[in-house]
Amino acid sequence: LSDKLSAAFKRLKSKGKLTEDDVKAAMREVRLALLEADVNYKVAKEFTKKVSERAIGSEVMESLTPGQMVVKIVDEELTNLMGGGEARLNIPSSGPCVMLLCGLQGAGKTTHAAKLGRLLKKKGHRPLLVACDVYRPAAIKQLQIVGQQAGVPVFEEGQGDPIRISKDAVRRAKDYGNDFVLIDTAGRLQIDDKLMDELKNIKEAVHPNEILLVVDSMTGQEAVNVAKSFDEKLDITGVILTKLDGDTRGGAALSVKAVTGKPIKFAGVGEKLDDIEVFHPDRMASRILGMGDVLTLIEDAQTKLDEKQAEKAAKRMLQNKLDFNDLLAQFDQIKKMGPIRGVLEKIGMDTRKLSDSQLDDRIVDREKAIILSMTPQEREKPSLINPSHKRRIAAGSGTRVEDVNKLLRSMEQMQKLMKRVKGKKGRRRFMPPMN
Ligand code: GDP
Ligand code: MG
Repeated sequence: LSDKLSAAFKRLKSKGKLTEDDVKAAMREVRLALLEADVNYKVAKEFTKKVSERAIGSEVMESLTPGQMVVKIVDEELTNLMGGGEARLNIPSSGPCVMLLCGLQGAGKTTHAAKLGRLLKKKGHRPLLVACDVYRPAAIKQLQIVGQQAGVPVFEEGQGDPIRISKDAVRRAKDYGNDFVLIDTAGRLQIDDKLMDELKNIKEAVHPNEILLVVDSMTGQEAVNVAKSFDEKLDITGVILTKLDGDTRGGAALSVKAVTGKPIKFAGVGEKLDDIEVFHPDRMASRILGMGDVLTLIEDAQTKLDEKQAEKAAKRMLQNKLDFNDLLAQFDQIKKMGPIRGVLEKIGMDTRKLSDSQLDDRIVDREKAIILSMTPQEREKPSLINPSHKRRIAAGSGTRVEDVNKLLRSMEQMQKLMKRVKGKKGRRRFMPPMN
């Protein structure tokens, strides 16, 4: 899908000024590319209609880089198509959060029960896995193995009654203070009434806060059909889209939300237990557009950054003279390039280990406020800042002294890092362009 879309956009980008016909022609190509990627027909049609309307009706046609503007609209609309922002979990105000994982055989339920357990454990929770796929002894064993690898306890009662087991498990979780209960269930090759009835009964017995349907993204449109059926029968709360690492088309990711109205909450991106991500529509959109590479970042940077300023900052960085004045200038530039997570990802950084608060764009605003409350001398020479200055800066910027300290420390770290980067070769590609 990426390749097809890039080709369509390349043609647009090379044009100086767009006509309505240019946009329409490009949208025809986009629609074909979407259909080829196994995106639902209606979804593809509505999508291109929306993009065309925005592109033709707005300031795009007069803008200096209309091609880029259209790409931006496509990016935004792809993001909206997948739900806009990151979907939250329904956490109850008291008692454990019960999550029912359901789906067809081989979709990745058992694996993702363990992956989710591990993810939650890493965030300080106390999850409990529950073996409700009772029809094959091997299924219970599999959950025990991955549970052990994930360091998460597994509740099982052998090949008993799944409804009973799930009830017992929730009771046990309450007794032992497990705050998440992840129920692994049986799958079938196809949807059948027996499976659905069993899931409905478990649902009635334990009232899950989340009913997460696990679907294999590589099955494309079929995954969307499965999601639709499960949702009609069980009223799911979200989807875990697995095997995205093998999905080169993105059709399921793009259609699930539009067809079912239910968001994708997590994505499986590999066989290992750490290969799970909270699903971010904007990142998926960028990935689909093939923007996740350094080259695009540099392209973006070249058009968006004030090149002179970037050059100055880069030179100073290389000379190891980074100070708060540079940082202030950088913040404004960074903001122009969009959300921080996207920027870091484009330069190839793995942001999975960074918490959302570390990536919160508001932090940039807060840090900017702090720097603005420093005197120019303090910005240039942070070592001048003593405790009473810190109190003044905190008061002036509406922050706390801790925040000021944190920023000062990160400046020190950055300066140290600069020293190291300077000593290493081949790292320059992470610098802003300097031509
Ligand atoms: P279940 O029948 O729904 O419980 O599916 P399993 O959890 O047993 O997974 C079926 C197969 O898919 C296993 O071999 C998993 O290792 C594999 N698998 C699951 N999720 C992913 C994923 O996100 N990426 C890749 N590459 N393989 C996966
Ligand atoms: Mg299983």
